[in-house]
Amino acid sequence: MQKLLYFDLCSLPIFLIMLVAVFARRTTKGNANRLYISLIILSALCAVSDVMLESVCSSLPVSDTRLIVANVFTYIYFLTRTATIVVYFFFVFAVTGTWYRIRRKRMKAILLIPFAVVLLTIATNPFTNAVFTVTSEEGYKRGYAIFIVYAISTLYALTGTIYLISCHRFLSKNKLFPLISLYVLAMGAVLVQYFFPFLMIEMIATAFALILVILFVLRPEEISDASVGSLSFEAYKTELRKILLTKQKVKIAIICFTNAYELRSYLGEVRYQSYVAHVIRQLDILFRRERVFFDIYFEHPGTMYIIIDNPEYDVEDAYHRLAEELMRRSEKAVSAGERLSAAACDLVVPDDLNSIDEIIRFGRDFSQQMPQGRTFAEAAEIISSKDYRIISNMDRILNRAIEENRFRMYYQPIYSVEKGRFVSAEALIRLFDDEYGIISPGLFIPAAEKRGVILPIGDFVLEEVHRFISENDLAGLGLEYIEINLSIAQCMQEELPERLAFLSDKYGVTPDMINLEITETTYEDTGSVMDFNLEALAGIGYTFSLDDYGTGFSDMQRVSKLPLKIIKLDKSLVDDMSSDEGMSIVRNTIKMMRDIDKKLVAEGVETKENLDYLEKIGCHFIQGYYFSKPLPEDEFVMFIKEHNRINA
Ligand code: C2E
Ligand code: CA
Ligand code: CA
Repeated sequence: MQKLLYFDLCSLPIFLIMLVAVFARRTTKGNANRLYISLIILSALCAVSDVMLESVCSSLPVSDTRLIVANVFTYIYFLTRTATIVVYFFFVFAVTGTWYRIRRKRMKAILLIPFAVVLLTIATNPFTNAVFTVTSEEGYKRGYAIFIVYAISTLYALTGTIYLISCHRFLSKNKLFPLISLYVLAMGAVLVQYFFPFLMIEMIATAFALILVILFVLRPEEISDASVGSLSFEAYKTELRKILLTKQKVKIAIICFTNAYELRSYLGEVRYQSYVAHVIRQLDILFRRERVFFDIYFEHPGTMYIIIDNPEYDVEDAYHRLAEELMRRSEKAVSAGERLSAAACDLVVPDDLNSIDEIIRFGRDFSQQMPQGRTFAEAAEIISSKDYRIISNMDRILNRAIEENRFRMYYQPIYSVEKGRFVSAEALIRLFDDEYGIISPGLFIPAAEKRGVILPIGDFVLEEVHRFISENDLAGLGLEYIEINLSIAQCMQEELPERLAFLSDKYGVTPDMINLEITETTYEDTGSVMDFNLEALAGIGYTFSLDDYGTGFSDMQRVSKLPLKIIKLDKSLVDDMSSDEGMSIVRNTIKMMRDIDKKLVAEGVETKENLDYLEKIGCHFIQGYYFSKPLPEDEFVMFIKEHNRINA
C-alpha cells in the first residue's frame, strides 16, 4: 500500500520553526538547550530520510542507484531515530537539573553502552543483513536483529519515563507531563504504525512532543537572561531548589560588581549590559577551558552566580585569572574595566548554607562583608563572622529595635579651617542591640532600606536631631548647623517637606540650622519627587551636601546644577592622599569645586599630615577621627564646649 507522506512533510516546517525560535530566543546556552537543538536536528533528519525513502526511491527507476539511495536513507533513518531517543534520555537529565548524576565520564559511558550495541548492529548490517535488507526484488525487509534496535530504544524510553516520574517532586506538573509526552506520543505512534503501516505519524508525533517541551519546559523568560546572554536569576533559584532536594554537593562562585549602580548610570543601560555580557563571555571561555561542568546565572544589576558541579574546584585561582583577562581586554570592550570594582566568593552547598533563602540572601549581602582589603573570600569565612550573624538576623534585630526604640543619635564634630573652630556636626545613628551590642549603621541602614523599614528610622533621626537642636543653644556653642543623612526612600517621600516644616514648627528649629546630606546614587535612582523635594526645601532655606563624593562617577556638570552648598569628599579619596596621584586628584577636585562656589568637607581625616595638606590646598571643613569620633549627645556637647572655648 502507498504510504502517506503528508505527516512527515508537515513535521519538517515544524522542526524548522522550532530551530529558528531557539536561536531567535537566544536559548542556546546550557546543556539542556544544546541537547534540545540536537533533538530537533536529528528528528528533522529522520523525517527527511523517511520522506526520501518513500518518495525519491519509489520514483526512481529500478536500478543500482535507487538501491544505494534507498540503503543510505534507511541507515540514516535508523541511526537518527535511535539517536533521538538516546539524546532525549540525556536531555531529561539536563532539563531536570540532575546532570551531576551522570557527570562522570564513566557514568556516561555506561549509559551509552546500549546505544553502542545498536550502532554496532547497524554497522555490521551490510555484512549480516540482520537488521534489514533493501533489495530490488523484495524492497525493504526487516531482519531478526531489528528486535535489538527496538528493544534498546524501548529500554531508553522506559528508563527515561521512570526517571522523570521519580523527579516529580521538583518538576511542576506543567513540566512533567510535556516531558513524558515525547515517550507517550512516540510509543503511541509506533503502535498506530504497527497496525496501520501506511500512517507515517511517528515524526509528527515527535514534533508535537517537542513543541510541548519548548512551550512548557524551555521557557526562555524563565531560563535565560537575553540581555546579558546567561541563565536568569529565576533559573538560579529553580536550580538551587533542585540541588537542595537532590542533596548533591556543588560549589557556587559568586561574583558581584560592587559598584554596579554607579557603573550602570555612568555607562548607560545599553553599554553597561554589553559590558556585563562581555564579562559573562569571558567567564564562559575561562570555565570551558577548565573542563568543569558549570552554568552561569545573572542577577541584575551585577551579580553572577556560577554553579560548578565539582565541589573541590579552586574558584579563587580562576577568579584571579578572570580578573587579569578582563583587565587585559577591557580597552577592547568598554573602557569600564578599570572602573569596575568587584568582590567574589565561593560557597559550598549544602555544607556552608543549606536553605534557599539563606543562599540567596548571602549572594546579595556578602560583598558588604568582605574581609578588609580583599576581593575574594571563602563563604565559610564570611558566614562565621559576627557581621554575618548580625545580617542574617537583621529582620529580628530591626523589628525589636524599632519596637523598643533602640536607636540613638551620635554627633561627629566638623571643623572649619577658616574659623579655626568646630562649626557643625554630622548626626549619625547608632543601634544598641541586647544580643549583638552596637550595630554599625553601615550594616543596618542598607538592610533597613531593602526591607522597607527605613522611613520610621529616618523619621526618628529627623525628630531626634530637631529635639537636640531645640534643647541646646547651637549658636551659643559656636555651631551653625547639624548635618542629617537622608536615605533614598526619604528623599522620595512626598511628605518630606511637610514633615520638616512640622518639626521646624514643633521645635522652633529654623531651616538654616539643618543641612541635609544626599548621595549621588540617591539622586540618580529617584525621579521627579526628589527634584520637587529638593527645590521645595531649598526654596524655604534648607541646604544640601553631596555625600561620599568620589565613590561614584561624578559628573561635574550635574553637580553644578544641583542645589548643593557642600561637597563631602569621601574617606577613600582622603586615604588615597598617601600617593602623588591621589593627592593631585584631591587637589584638583577641591580647585574645581571652589570654582563653582561649593564648600568642601573632607571626611575620614585621621592624621595630622592629611589635615595640614587639606588646609593648605583650600579645603573648607574637616571631619574625622583626627578631631573626634562620633560622640553621644552629652559627650559631644562637652567636647564642643571645651574645644570651642565656650564658658559654661
Ligand atoms: P557616611 O554618611 O559617609 O558617614 C561617615 C562615616 O564615616 C561614619 O560612619 C563615621 O563614623 C565614619 N568616619 C568619620 N570619620 C572617620 C575617620 O576618620 N575614620 C574612619 N575609619 N571612619 C570615619 P558610621 O557612623 O558608621 O556611618 C556609616 C554610614 O551609615 C554613613 O556613612 C551613612 O551612609 C549611614 N548613616 C549613618 N547614620 C545615618 C542616618 O541617620 N541616616 C541615614 N540615612 N544613614 C545613616
Ligand atoms: Ca554622611
Ligand atoms: Ca560620607
